[in-house]
Amino acid sequence: MNRDEKDIRAFISRRDTGPAAFTIAVKDNIVTTDFPTTCGSRILDGYVSPFDATAVARLRGRGAVVAGKTNLDEFAMGSSTEHSAFGPTRNPWDITRVPGGSSGGSAAAVAAGMVPAALGSDTGGSVRQPAAFCGVVGVKPTWGRVSRYGLIAFASSLDQIGTFTLDVRSAAKLLGIIAGHDPLDATSSSETVDDYEADLDAGVGGLRFGVVEEALERLEGEVRANFEAALDLLRGGGAVIENVSVPTIAAAISVYYVVANAEASANLARFDGVRYGARAEAPSLAELYRGTRGRGFGDEVKRRIMLGTFALSAGYSEEYYVRAQGVRQTMRNELEAAFRRFDFLLTPTTPEPAFRIGEKSADPLSMYLSDVFTAPANLTGVPAIALPSGLTAAGLPLSLQIMAPWFAERSMFRAAAAFERMLQFERG
Ligand code: GLN
Repeated sequence: MNRDEKDIRAFISRRDTGPAAFTIAVKDNIVTTDFPTTCGSRILDGYVSPFDATAVARLRGRGAVVAGKTNLDEFAMGSSTEHSAFGPTRNPWDITRVPGGSSGGSAAAVAAGMVPAALGSDTGGSVRQPAAFCGVVGVKPTWGRVSRYGLIAFASSLDQIGTFTLDVRSAAKLLGIIAGHDPLDATSSSETVDDYEADLDAGVGGLRFGVVEEALERLEGEVRANFEAALDLLRGGGAVIENVSVPTIAAAISVYYVVANAEASANLARFDGVRYGARAEAPSLAELYRGTRGRGFGDEVKRRIMLGTFALSAGYSEEYYVRAQGVRQTMRNELEAAFRRFDFLLTPTTPEPAFRIGEKSADPLSMYLSDVFTAPANLTGVPAIALPSGLTAAGLPLSLQIMAPWFAERSMFRAAAAFERMLQFERG
């Protein structure tokens, strides 16, 4: 650990001794009273929220200062932070590459040392994938663990606020602050919030990790070698590692894009020029809607709304939406079965490291494949963490994903902290 990292840790841990100032960056789809909230979209031009998101309010209650709002793919739709009305964010490890997305601004801000921590949102991987691309720790908690009040909805049954930090302990502290029931979000869980730091030093001896076979089959080159090295490290720490099959992972992307777009098409109906942000003045209501949405939304958002509307339309909803929900249930059953045998499931966070700016812009489907390993945690609601696991020969970060059972964040942090220590020890 270098000096900067030590300072940052000390900074964050001062919360225990009363109000202390630490800065945090907030993804710009989470509302704050002291900055505009844009969602990276022209349609919210001029919008300032009259209230803070609950996660932000809780952080302020512990002395946090919001340093700024961070760039994102418009309405959190994307995997590269190229789909923002404000232009792209670059990856601090290589500025010709994307930082991942959609929370690319938050990931880049932490990776570049601008702030010790940041909030993001994760609907299909938008915290973990950019954390992976930028070499930082990214956490997506169990669905319902953190209040979504003040998070502008993309796909409500998948959305969770998550965290970016440089290390696991800071992630555990941060989640401890923002987690817990919120009367303002009826879907927030009243399950008690564990002490996430309690087991950080407990190691992985005897813990059981299932390696998702369907993920392993897809891996190539450096990602594969790095993943296998991570498994060796865990084995060396006394963990039990075995393969496990989760067949529906192969359908994760298809199911995710049906469900997410269907929910998005409903959630984004509220941006009509009447209530929030920009308005295209027009002689009739229909033209006002059309003008506002036509000019306000970017291409990717329009594509999603159209796909989602189609998936829900009479005559097609059985074939797409209802079927996708069926596969989602099967996936949940498969994970339940896997977690009867294993404490955790492992995959790399992403099938490849950060790609070049522009490389996938012309091909939305290849961009969508970035989420193949992350989307299952959203579809089933389980918590997952993305952990730096090394660098490619070209110096790009790689990342290990640990998924844990519902509300098992405490043991997830235990395993993650153990892996982090073993990796540091190995590097010397
Ligand atoms: N990349 C995925 C998408 O484009 C996930 C986005 C997210 O998690 N917000 O939908």
